[in-house]
Amino acid sequence: MHDVTQSILDHVVKTDPHQPEFIQAVTSFLSSIDNLVDDLPQIVYHKVLDRLVEPERVIMFRVPWIDDDGQLQINRGYRIQMNSSIGPYKGGLRFHPSVNLSILKFLAFEQTFKNSLTGLAMGGGKGGSDFNPKGKSDNEVMRFCQSLMTELSRHIGEDTDIPAGDIGVGGREIGYMFGQYKRLTNRSVGVLTGKGPSYGGSYIRPEATGYGLVYLSAAILEAKGKSLDGKTCLVSGSGNVAQFTVEKLLHMGAKPVSLSDSTGVLLDPSGIDAKKLAYVKTLKNVRRGRIAEYAQQFPEATYIPHNGGSDSNPLWDVKADYAFPCATQNEINAKDAKNLIANGIKLVGEGANMPTTLEADAIFKEAGILHAPGKASNAGGVAVSGLEMAQNSQKLQWTPQQVDQQLQQIMKNIFASVSNAAEKYSTKDNYVDGANIAGFLKVSEAMIAQGYV
Ligand code: NDP
Repeated sequence: MHDVTQSILDHVVKTDPHQPEFIQAVTSFLSSIDNLVDDLPQIVYHKVLDRLVEPERVIMFRVPWIDDDGQLQINRGYRIQMNSSIGPYKGGLRFHPSVNLSILKFLAFEQTFKNSLTGLAMGGGKGGSDFNPKGKSDNEVMRFCQSLMTELSRHIGEDTDIPAGDIGVGGREIGYMFGQYKRLTNRSVGVLTGKGPSYGGSYIRPEATGYGLVYLSAAILEAKGKSLDGKTCLVSGSGNVAQFTVEKLLHMGAKPVSLSDSTGVLLDPSGIDAKKLAYVKTLKNVRRGRIAEYAQQFPEATYIPHNGGSDSNPLWDVKADYAFPCATQNEINAKDAKNLIANGIKLVGEGANMPTTLEADAIFKEAGILHAPGKASNAGGVAVSGLEMAQNSQKLQWTPQQVDQQLQQIMKNIFASVSNAAEKYSTKDNYVDGANIAGFLKVSEAMIAQGYV
């Protein structure tokens, strides 16, 4: 590593030794930027990298709420306002028991470059809570969301910081938080995205991350003279991103054969068709059930219990053409990466943020796997959030076709800028480097232009 990037990494490790996910995200980013340092001395002179790894602001607060038994519960809430150089902070809220500063800082860091890649004026942010919505009643979730927003409302605004959803935060949670924001401020503005279409939400926002992932993957394949048609695809997760990834894969003629959740893996070699996908949507979104039930409903499928305890995930040890990790960070380790390659995988398109470990990244690179990193391939979600902000400012609602068309164009533009940056500054088809570099160059220029803030 270059002296400059190494000293930034050393500083991060020394300052935040207990933040492994943040250190991992910074390490991956700095190794892509390494080659640029000598060519762009202004980055060093203006200490752009030193500033990038330090959030502009971190807000941490208590979230008290009353459960259905009348007991007071306390959770911790966060908002990381990472970088506002190209626009107001923008990024989702995650509700999951694993949430901590390290995970949210890694997500906010990634978000800064992802938002830059969309070409829209959005800075990077992320937030959430260690609250676990699983097993909670709607009323408990509502009381929690209202309490969280009571504090968060002081720090956000339609031109300041605009949160959205992420793991554990879907339409239900966004609705409760938006209602509370309006009640507290007496203002009906686009302060959150991912709202329902009846109260200011954009059509295609729920679909956008999964659809965008498939659009970008199709663009990569097209550039290689390949397509998704008739290809067997592995998909992990069974939430928002996984469901709409499967849906768009079906539109494109591919054959998705897997799903998962935090307790197990579902393999359906006969393919997850539209009817089975509709079952999954009701199971997960309405009944809030477990993916294991799929195998009871459709006996041709197999359910394998898996909670991350073993050294590899059976989901990644299945013969297929392309893999789409859509659950969570570090869900593909070195062993999984080797298994995927042995099973003939040619493309890994990341729906989740940082689903591959640094070791897995290196294995894919070495094997020449087409690897679309999350900050490029899952940017469709935040891109349509940006379009929702534009519609809210105009007090207009665009049709689903208009939004989908813009999403497709944005994903094509992202592919072009990522592959151009890879070819110019790194190696052809190294989309991991290309995404880091293309996202960074714009942020860096904006930071330098605005002085030392
Ligand atoms: P959801 O909460 O809708 O679904 C998450 C899915 O991943 C669930 O199936 C969940 O299983 C599974 N999962 C979560 N944590 C773990 C874990 N530790 N181990 C195994 N499985 C796990 O979230 P999303 O679909 O919205 O998000 C999925 C990924 O996509 C995340 O990395 C997120 O940051 C990223 N992303 C999401 C965007 C969006 O627009 N929603 C935008 C860009 C990226 P279970 O039901 O058991 O919890």
